[in-house]
Amino acid sequence: SDSHFPVPISPSHVDYSLHYPQLVVSSDTTSSKKVEFADIGCGFGGLLISLATLFPETLMIGMELRDKVTEYVKERILALRKANPGQYQNVSVVRTNSMKYIPNYFQKAQLSKMFFLFPDPHFKEKNHRRRVISPYLLDEYAYALRVGGIIYTITDVEELGEWMNSCLAGHPMFEALTQKELEADPVVKLLSSATEEGQKVSRNGGQTFQAIYRRITPIS
Ligand code: SAM
Repeated sequence: SDSHFPVPISPSHVDYSLHYPQLVVSSDTTSSKKVEFADIGCGFGGLLISLATLFPETLMIGMELRDKVTEYVKERILALRKANPGQYQNVSVVRTNSMKYIPNYFQKAQLSKMFFLFPDPHFKEKNHRRRVISPYLLDEYAYALRVGGIIYTITDVEELGEWMNSCLAGHPMFEALTQKELEADPVVKLLSSATEEGQKVSRNGGQTFQAIYRRITPIS
């Protein structure tokens, strides 16, 4: 349960020098480089590992609820750092319940990318409130994302894909990327190819459903 992991009381209480010892020197969050990418429910960390070398200057973090999975990702990152000196210093993971604690980790407009890749479907109507994309949670994500920042979602469950797309389409602070923008963004291809879930789906020849939106300033 939640009582087994520490929760920072605010974003300024997260000591990122522990996550990125070579890049963030002190716990003084006012002057340090900040995390910009968040992979929510990162699972085994495949996407982050790919992004780490694609965006070597950007700090990124995975948020994962399962303790053992989080430990695995930590070990994976440490091993990569050891084997590739100077690389993978910009990637880390934290065990937390993202549906409760995103505001404890990120300040307003801190993030430029958020990922929700192959989230758990929660099929039953009464469980929709447990879905990681909902109108209410999108308010929180809009707060953490800067204007121009991008939210990436993908699933192999058609109903969930429709749900995520309709939540985003209905939210005043998000607008869909155009086909041209999707094709120009190298990250879009990684949603399936770099994630463990995406690889499983393509091995089984399954279909995927994406919804990729930009944080905008709402027209008042
Ligand atoms: N994104 C990864 C991928 O595409 O390979 C993993 C997808 S897996 C189906 C969903 C992950 O979300 C699981 O590892 C699960 O533990 C995690 N998860 C579920 N609810 C969560 C929550 N409230 N906070 C953080 N992680 C959560």
